[in-house]
Amino acid sequence: MLLEIDDVSLLYGRIQALHGISLTVDEGEIVALIGANGAGKTTTMRAISGIRPIASGSIRFAGEDISKLRADLRVRRGLCQAPEGRGVFPGMTVMENLGMGAYTRRDRSEIAKDRARVLEMFPRLAERRKQPGGTLSGGEQQMLAVGRALMSRPKLLLLDEPSMGLAPMLIQQIFSIIKEINQQGTTVLLVEQNAQQALSLAHRAYVLETGRIVKSGTGLELLHDDAVKEAYLGVA
Ligand code: ATP
Repeated sequence: MLLEIDDVSLLYGRIQALHGISLTVDEGEIVALIGANGAGKTTTMRAISGIRPIASGSIRFAGEDISKLRADLRVRRGLCQAPEGRGVFPGMTVMENLGMGAYTRRDRSEIAKDRARVLEMFPRLAERRKQPGGTLSGGEQQMLAVGRALMSRPKLLLLDEPSMGLAPMLIQQIFSIIKEINQQGTTVLLVEQNAQQALSLAHRAYVLETGRIVKSGTGLELLHDDAVKEAYLGVA
């Protein structure tokens, strides 16, 4: 297993946001985490990336216990999160933003190749490569955040709501890019409100409710699960 989360709990002060969650991501998979607002999806991502400390349980990545490892050291080990709400550097150009994604790397010619690959994947970013990040539309900033995360050559890419706030056409595009990224060898853990799309794309998925995992299965199984349909797919 590339990622193994075992019985993890997390607190915000006195509020317990995660109650002993366990999940795994195998190399090569796309795994989705779905659930309603406030279910704990973002919190799970924060626990994995190390932005918030966990209260108990363990997180193993590539065979190592990283439960207490600093967030920046997790990035160096190949665990990279494209943040929810974009988080691009507004004053830096698209090219500079992509360059920041590779800050842990020294292999200049490979970095240049990866930048070219990202620009090929996202033609809109290529057109705007000299523009400051802050002048891009919301959707373009989201793509830039994903592109920047890819520049670190992650073993596991964590995506928090990549489709949030995007126009329908761009949603299609971002999901097909995620598929492409995965087919090129990057493992993906994805948090999504857009359950239909996420389950269609994911090999496996977990359903979170009030900080607990209540169901898991292949994307297809969950797409056809009556309770999931009713709660998350808007079909009675
Ligand atoms: P959303 O899709 O709305 O982001 P989510 O499933 O990602 O929902 P989380 O953001 O992980 O849910 O929130 C889980 C719980 O933790 C919620 O009850 C939320 O109010 C609480 N919470 C989240 N962040 C904080 C924080 N910084 N301080 C205190 N409580 C928080």
